[in-house]
Formats: sequence, C-alpha cells, structure tokens
Amino acid sequence: MKRRDFLKHVSLAALGSSVVRLSAAQKRIAFGGIQIECSTYGNILSRMEDFTIRRGPELANSRLFSGLQNYPHPFMPVLLASAVPGGPVERTTYEALKTEFLGRFRELLPLDGVYLPMHGAMFVERMFDAEGDWISAVRDLVGPGCLISASYDLHGNLSRRVIDALDMLSAFRTAPHIDREETTRRACDMLVHCLEGGIRPTLVWTPIPVLMPGERSSTLYDPAKRLWAQLPAMNARDGVMDVSLLVGYVWADEARATASAVLTGTKPAALQKGALALAQQYWDARTEFAFGVPTGTMGECITKARALGTRPVVISDSGDNPTGGGTGDRADALAELLRMKVSDVVVAGIADRPAAEACYRAGVGKVIPLKIGATLDPQRSRPVEVTAKVVFLAETDTIAERQAVVAVDGVTVVLTARRRPFHQVRDFTSLGLDTTTFKIVVVKAGYLVPEIAAIANPNLMALTDGAVNQDIEHLSSRNRVPTYPFVRDLRWSPSAIVSARSPSETGRD
Ligand SMILES: [Zn+2]
Repeated sequence: MKRRDFLKHVSLAALGSSVVRLSAAQKRIAFGGIQIECSTYGNILSRMEDFTIRRGPELANSRLFSGLQNYPHPFMPVLLASAVPGGPVERTTYEALKTEFLGRFRELLPLDGVYLPMHGAMFVERMFDAEGDWISAVRDLVGPGCLISASYDLHGNLSRRVIDALDMLSAFRTAPHIDREETTRRACDMLVHCLEGGIRPTLVWTPIPVLMPGERSSTLYDPAKRLWAQLPAMNARDGVMDVSLLVGYVWADEARATASAVLTGTKPAALQKGALALAQQYWDARTEFAFGVPTGTMGECITKARALGTRPVVISDSGDNPTGGGTGDRADALAELLRMKVSDVVVAGIADRPAAEACYRAGVGKVIPLKIGATLDPQRSRPVEVTAKVVFLAETDTIAERQAVVAVDGVTVVLTARRRPFHQVRDFTSLGLDTTTFKIVVVKAGYLVPEIAAIANPNLMALTDGAVNQDIEHLSSRNRVPTYPFVRDLRWSPSAIVSARSPSETGRD
C-alpha cells in the first residue's frame, strides 16, 4: 500500500473522522488484542456474547487506552475483545475474533510497532497456548522488522512461542491489580523508546516451575510483597528496560502453566543475570506462599463470623469466583446459610438468569417459589429450592444486566442474569443494599479488591468447591509439567531463555 493510501485508510477506517497526519519522524503503531482468563476445570464455554468488543474510536477513547493518544506517534486502535474470566473459549468464537482482528490489522499495514494488551491465561477448546497462536499470527502478519510490545496480567502463562514472537513484555506488578494504567504505560513507553532510538531489544525469560493461586501470592503479603517490591530498582539498572515477574495461572492444565521472570533491555548479560536471580528467589520462597486472610470451610467461616463482634464480615466464596474463572452459579453458600439458620446476611451474587427472570415476571413484593443455582453448570452445581420474596429489581433495558434482590428467610440474595463480580460498593448500593448494615456479606471472590477489602471487618476466605477450587494440590492434570507444589520434592535450577528475535540470537543489532 502506498503511503498516501495508508494515511487515508488510517484516518477513515481506524480513527473515524479524526485525521491522522504522520510526519516523516512519526512511527506507525497499532494496538489491540484479546483478554480472558480461562479455567480448564470449568465446564461452561466462553462464547461471543461473553466478550465486550471495542473497535476503532471506541477502543481509542476507552479509559485505559485514551492516554496512548498523548504519544507523539499515533496509536491506531484495532480491536480489543475482553471478557469476565470463565471456562474455555468456544473454538468458533476464538476463530471469528482472530479473523476479524487480523483483518483489521492487515488494513493498517505497514506498521513500525504493535502493542498487544493481553491477559495471558486464555484457553481455547482443543488448543494449547492460545496466546502463542494469537501473537505469532500477529508476528506473521507484521513481519520481522516490526517491534511488538505486549502487556500481560500477573496471572498470565508464557511459552517459548510467545517469547519468540515478542520484542518486549511488561506485566502487572500488583495483585489485586491496581497498576493497569502503569503497566500499559510501561509497555508503550518502551515500545516508543525503541522505535525512536532504532533499538531492537533483547527479551529474556526464565520459567519457574511453581504454581500458586492468586490468593496465596497476593503482593499485599510476603513473600510476594518483598519479591515484587524490588522490581522498580532492578528496572533502573543500566541496560534494563522492563522487569516482570508473573505468578502464572494454576487452573490451566497446560504445559506452559508456570511462574515466570521476564526482562527486556539492551544488555543481555545483565538481563540474564536479573532473570536468573529473580527466578531463584521465587523458587526459594515457594514454601512461604500462603493465604493472606483466615480460611476455612464455608460453615467454619460462618461460625467464625457470627462469633465476631464486628460487621460486616466479608466471606469470600473462593471456589466459584467468576473473576478467577469460576462459574458463578453455585448456591452452596446459600444452602449452608439456610441450613445454619443465619440471618442478617447478603449473598452477592448468584448468576441465575431463569430465577432473575422469574422475579421480574412476579414483581417487587411478590412471594414466589424459586430454584436457585446450577443453571450454567448443572453437572457440578446443585440448586437450592426456596420460597423467596422479591424485594428489588434493577431497572435496565438489557436482559443480561438484570439483577433481582430476594429475601429467603433471613438471607438476602442477589440473582444476576449474567456472571459478574461484586467488586465495588456501588454494585450493592445500586441495588438498594448497604453492606455496612449486614452482619455477613458473602461474595464470590478470591482475594478482595481494594474497595471491598476496605469495608471488610474482617475478611474470611471460604475454601469452597468450584472451577477455581483453592485446593490446588488435588487438581487433576494431564498436561502440566512437573511443578511445585504438585511435585513437592522437585529439584530445579534456573536457566534463561532468550527470545529468538533478540539481536544476540539473530546476529542483528
Ligand atoms: Zn490477574
């Protein structure tokens, strides 16, 4: 495509009515990707309707990426498909998203740089290393001369295929994740710096055969706290452009599922030294990883909460946490609360569209029989049959956004039409619920995000069953490589893998 044609195409296809004028010094950069975390232990598929897809200007103007327009080079938006974590991605959905993504990318060629905001723990039906498939397809499209920078979630899994297709990588440094903006900026600053300076960086990866759930590796607590705290200082060293340490994703029965240390920069020896040191430290700390809050069965947590003189005690129903890949339709917590005749408690929420619909049909104030739970995964979940009074219905024109609040004996239950977390206080207040008035608040979550953590007085984690069961030692596996804690007496010493794209591997500067 001639340059003039390219500019015309960019202004019309990618940025709507806004005209992009590229000076001779400006670089052509495109960005987009796919973000989902998939439990291979989940029985429900993630389908097209589960993805939020932002294209063109909608992506460019979105909260996380609007800052990209401040760079002296236009970041041209392609497509970003993101979803609440869940089960495997339906193969046809993946193929359709990938085809559209690559088609839109192709229209923007030639490119100097690409930014891929990814998660890193996608699992697609009948496919291992899905990010490897996606990212290598981008590499094939843009050619070897283009620089590709990716950002990853801290819980992403890497592979040789991914590393060999990338030039640079930045991962979140916090869990709970409060550094999304900073990570995006690190990945894009590095990309722009390399493009402007004509730098082809070196990417070094050291996989670490340790798998921990996020709930045992939160950066709020040691050992993760001290491991991650040193990254900024390491990043400031000469020849180091980025330092990332990834926990990986334990509910992925894949050979690539491990923790990782990844460094990007211009001095291979320093990068390898840093990656090996970080990996060794992580390995040495493997027996220290532990839950940051008290844990127990749901029954034990309820008993403990009742005995405490504080409120609200927030109990995490961790095995069914939709933001970790849980199904979100389980009613076990409700069943246990009813069995123990607990009142003054809210359960938020249970994904159950049929029950929510029944509430909307009945209307506020009506008392109706309801079967709650097990609508998404009837194989593994068990429903609870109750008589419920409808107390609140969310006003919305979108069926998927419907939420009903019902009272079942002393238990207040939120029924949601779609799988969703309750991460913010307004998720409750918008339904007429004041969390501070309840003795117990049960949420489907693992570790709490800051806003809910702030109201928890205190937080207890129930180690419940589900697609993201925290009892990881008993997870079945056919594909995992020998990894701690599954192999408790594993012996290991770190070795650094240099991307095939790195100058030291290809002989190029
Ligand atoms: Zn994560």
